[in-house]
Amino acid sequence: MPVLPAELGARIERVDWTPARIETLVRRMPKVESHVHLDGSLSPATVLRLAREQRYAPLESLTLDEIRHRTVVEQPRPSLAEVLAVFGTVYPLLRSAEALETVAFELAASAASQDTRYVEVRFAPALQAAPGFSQEAALDAVLEGLARGRREHGVESAVILCLIRPDALVSMAANRATLELALDRRGRGVVAIDLAGDEAAAPLAAYAELFRRARRGGLALTAHAGEAPGGGDLETALELGVDRLGHGTDLARRPELLAEVLRRRIPIEVNLTSNLRTGAVAAVREHPVRDWFRAGARIALGTDDPGVFGNDLAGEYLLLHRELGFTPAELVAVALQGVDALFLPRGARRRMRREFERELGRLLDELGGEAAPALSPTR
Ligand SMILES: [Zn+2]
Repeated sequence: MPVLPAELGARIERVDWTPARIETLVRRMPKVESHVHLDGSLSPATVLRLAREQRYAPLESLTLDEIRHRTVVEQPRPSLAEVLAVFGTVYPLLRSAEALETVAFELAASAASQDTRYVEVRFAPALQAAPGFSQEAALDAVLEGLARGRREHGVESAVILCLIRPDALVSMAANRATLELALDRRGRGVVAIDLAGDEAAAPLAAYAELFRRARRGGLALTAHAGEAPGGGDLETALELGVDRLGHGTDLARRPELLAEVLRRRIPIEVNLTSNLRTGAVAAVREHPVRDWFRAGARIALGTDDPGVFGNDLAGEYLLLHRELGFTPAELVAVALQGVDALFLPRGARRRMRREFERELGRLLDELGGEAAPALSPTR
């Protein structure tokens, strides 16, 4: 059984769980998200709007359906690389402060609409920088958009800066500049670094020195690792002492490494729809998260790229329930584990967790009340 405060457990047991009530639970329970890429969050409508505003010839005259066809990966593809190719379509639209401010704000607005209260947003400023538009200017624009999201929607946030592999896409010098920017802004909007891009094309080990420097400078570390089968990234990530592990689906074939992840209590950033569409798992019901959770792993559930995959966080919780049999109590436990996994000072995490528990209590009372015929229906 998951570790839940007893009073929440008791409240969960009082609810008569119908599919509709489970859906209400996942949509309305307070949530956080810590694995979401800004550049993977653009809806087709946003892509089209930016293309028209910027008079961007390759896209501006397309219909919404044509944009969707190019930017949304609806069916599984044979490899991660073939999903990453989609991102190239939207990058040219994100090389201005205005566009980055807008998409960061829209990500916060979308989080608010799903009762997601805190988002760690990641992006690679090296991919958005252009002549006359520095990595720093890109970061400032994103932070401004997130600040507007905080003011207008009450969504708290922080930024994880992504280093990008392979070298052909972003040079080591540009990645180094990203790291220096992250160190300079540590505690002022930036909390961690990540390594993203095609795992099969360049190993995490090639970036080990940058990760060590980030660690010495006080940044938290996460890395996409074990998303593609084979390769040594999981070992490297553990050697580097990452604070969270991105995807890690290959742990299913590496029991000795999973044991180490469990022993060190390293949260695993789980992205079900993404793993299906990139071919990391053959079916959601075969995803190892069921076994990981039973074994005591800490889970941080995310969407990865809600624009590219057309998914949302509540939908990912529903997949846990429908495809992998997570019970309402387990769904609530995962939501709380998400808070524990955030790159926030311990005191802030504990405060958020207590707030979430109080709010969950009220939501569960309401859901339990719905089952009682004496009470009038509530929504
Ligand atoms: Zn990712």
